[in-house]
Parts: sequence; C-alpha cells; structure tokens
Amino acid sequence: MARFVDSVCKLCRREGGKLFLKGDRCYSAKCAYEKRAYAPGMHGRQGQFRRKESDYGVQLREKQKMRRLYGIFERQFRRYFHQAQRQKGLTGVNLLITLERRLDNVVYRLGLASSRPQARQFINHGHFTVNGHKTNIASFLVAEGDEIVVREKSQKTTHFKQVQKVLDDGRVPNWLKLDSGNLAAKVLALPQRDHIDVTLNEQLVVEYYSR
Ligand code: SF4
Repeated sequence: MARFVDSVCKLCRREGGKLFLKGDRCYSAKCAYEKRAYAPGMHGRQGQFRRKESDYGVQLREKQKMRRLYGIFERQFRRYFHQAQRQKGLTGVNLLITLERRLDNVVYRLGLASSRPQARQFINHGHFTVNGHKTNIASFLVAEGDEIVVREKSQKTTHFKQVQKVLDDGRVPNWLKLDSGNLAAKVLALPQRDHIDVTLNEQLVVEYYSR
C-alpha cells in the first residue's frame, strides 16, 4: 500500500468520505472525519461553499478516492486500469474487481485485519499462506479456488488469537468463505460488482483516464 507520511485522516477529509484507513478508530467518535468533515488546510472549510466543481475535478476526485481507499500508487493504479481495459466487459467494473482481488483487500474483507493498511503489514510480515505457499506480496491477486490461511506460528500471536474470538463468518462477502476456527478462507468465485460494497462511481474513473 502506498506510503503516506502525513496523517492518513487528511486523505478522508480531502476525498469527502471515510476511507477506513485506521481500523477501529474509524468506527469511533475519535474519527477525524466525523469531527471535521471538510478538506484539510487553511481554506478547507471555505471550499465547502465554493462554486460547483468541473467535470474534470469530479472525475479526478473519484479516481483519487478509489486509489486511496485501496492504497495504491498512481503508477500501479494506472497499470490496473490498462489491464481492465484489455479485459472483456465494463472497464470500471473490471478495475474494481481487480482491486478487490488483491490479497491485502481479501485479508481485510475476511476481518483478519482491521484496515487495508494493517492487512498489508501482516502480509509483508509473512503471516499468510496462499495454497500452502508463504505469500508476502500484498498485491497478489487471488483466483477462484485459492485457499488463504494464517500460518500456524502466526495463529499463536496475540493479534490472531483475539481476532479469532470476534470473527464473524456472516460479515464476509459471499464470494469468500471463512473458516474462523482454523483461521482459513477460500475464494469461492471472483467478485461481481454487486458484491463490492464501496460507494464509488467507477465510470467517473474510466472517464478520467479516457480524456
Ligand atoms: Fe478516515 Fe479512519 Fe481517520 Fe476517520 S479515523 S478520518 S475514517 S482514516
């Protein structure tokens, strides 16, 4: 996930919506966006009353929001877009499906990490196997039938012991199957657009790159 050295809460405030980058804090009263729902900086507050944003501005903000939600650098994000363009079907939907298939997103969706940045850190630290192989690449794209497991040694860590107690199989998207007892999961099928609960307009992102 792209490294952002400033407070990540500023990204939520800049994009005008919660990106859930800080785990439990995002659901608490401490969430910076709940307290200051306007862009950061000296003129952030006045920005709310500015004239209507141009089409380009709207498309740019949507692209940035999608990129920041999944925590991806511009260059890689653009690469995903070009891949999506070459696939059959709607480019915007293909793009979203690719982003959902990233291992860091899957770990987050399973509830094994409280945010995508945390999921990425756990993957980098080698806590997971995919189909029996240790995988420490957060951008790894899962495929139908893949099995993701928390490594035996990692299952003994405080984090995963605590997570196991609160895992909720019912909250996992239906393209994934979680076996909370064994801290393991399986990809039942590739996600479809209606499985992806993000409030993003992917068509605006397509328009941004098609200018
Ligand atoms: Fe965004 Fe989470 Fe910070 Fe709230 S706490 S502003 S949702 S990163």
